[in-house]
Amino acid sequence: QHALAMTPEQVTSRSIMQTQLIKINPAHPESDLIQIAAQKILDGGLVAFPTETVYGLGANALDGDAVSRIFTAKGRPSSDPLIVHIHSLDQLNQVAIEIPDLAYRLAEKFWSGPLTLVLQRNESITPAVSAGLNTVAVRMPSHPIALALLRSANVPIAAPSANLFSRPSPTTAQHVLEDLNDRVDIILDGGRVNIGVESTVLDLTQSISVVLRPGGTSLEALRQVIPNCVVRNTYLNAEESASSPGMLIKHYSPRAKVLLFDGERESVLRLMVDEARRHHRAGVLLFDEDGEEFDGLGVSVSRLGSESNLAEIANNLFSAMRDLDQKNVDVILVRGVKREGLGLAIWDRLLRAAEGNVIRDT
Ligand code: AMP
Ligand code: MG
Repeated sequence: QHALAMTPEQVTSRSIMQTQLIKINPAHPESDLIQIAAQKILDGGLVAFPTETVYGLGANALDGDAVSRIFTAKGRPSSDPLIVHIHSLDQLNQVAIEIPDLAYRLAEKFWSGPLTLVLQRNESITPAVSAGLNTVAVRMPSHPIALALLRSANVPIAAPSANLFSRPSPTTAQHVLEDLNDRVDIILDGGRVNIGVESTVLDLTQSISVVLRPGGTSLEALRQVIPNCVVRNTYLNAEESASSPGMLIKHYSPRAKVLLFDGERESVLRLMVDEARRHHRAGVLLFDEDGEEFDGLGVSVSRLGSESNLAEIANNLFSAMRDLDQKNVDVILVRGVKREGLGLAIWDRLLRAAEGNVIRDT
C-alpha cells in the first residue's frame, strides 16, 4: 500500500511547474507580456487569465495533453467538460460544426460577453475538452486581457474557472494563487474581474434552447431573442452527474456548511439569528440592509452589498465565501436573492454552495 495521493504521472507534471505571477494592465495589456503567455499556451502549458466573468485556467484546445493538464491541476473529474474561448467569429468554425443561424444571431447580440453556446463539436477540438461528448461549449470573452491572449496565441483556448474543483470560483489573481500555486505555469494578474459569476451556458443542440447554467447573461435578455428558451433546473448528486456533465449540486462550495434561507425578510432574519446562536462560530453573507441584525451575536460577517444591487452582489459573492472560510467559521448563513436578472445566477450559486438545502420561513 502506497500513501501517494497522486499517480506518478501527476507528481511529475506538478513538480516541474513553478508558477509565475505576471501583473498586467487590464485595460491595455502590455503586448510583450501577452506574448509570453501566448507562447506558453502554444508550448502546451497552463495560463490563468482574467475574463469578465471569473478567472479562467487556459490551455490550447487543440492539444489533448495540454487539456488533460487542466483536469489534473484543478482536480476536476474528466467527466466535466470545459468551455472553449475564441476571439472572432471566424474562429467559431474551428471549434464547432453545423452551426445554426440562431447561434450567429445570439453571437451578434451577446458576443463578446458572458454567454456560452453548446454546439456540435468540430473534430479538431480534442475530445478531452468535451468529456468525450460530441458537443462543445464555446464563447467569446470581452475582457481585454482574454481577447489579447486569444489573438496572440491564435488557437482556441479551453478554460474552466481557475479554482480547485468545487471551491468558489476565483475573481482575483490572489484566489487563483491560493488554489493553484505550483499547478499552473503563469497567472496573468489583471486585478478584480467585472462580473464575478460565470457565463450563462445555453444548449443549442436540442429541439428547444435550454439554459444549462444561469450566469452573466440574463434569461430576460436571452428571451428577447429566443422567447421559448427554458432553464434546466435539475441538480444532480455525485453518482448521477457522470451522465450529465456540470450539473453537480455540490459546487462553488466554501469549506464551511452553507445554509440558504428563503422567504419573507423579517421571518427569515429571525430564523437566521436563531441559527447563529446555535453555533460557536457562525458566518453571515450579509446584505447592507441587514446591517445590525447580527450585532452582538459574535458572528463573522462578509459583505455582499445592497440587496437591490445584483451586480454588486454577484461581484462580491465568491470572494465573500472565501473570506468567511479564512475566518474559520463552522457554518455560513445567507438569505436568498430575487431570481430575476443576475439574481438567477446568484441564486443558483448559493443553492449549489448549500448543496441544494433551502430553509424556508414556513
Ligand atoms: P466552468 O468552465 O468551470 O465554468 O464550467 C463549464 C461548464 O460548462 C460545465 O460545468 C458544464 O455545465 C458546461 N459545459 C461545457 N461543455 C459542455 C457540453 N459539451 N455540454 C453541456 N454542458 C457543457
Ligand atoms: Mg467552474
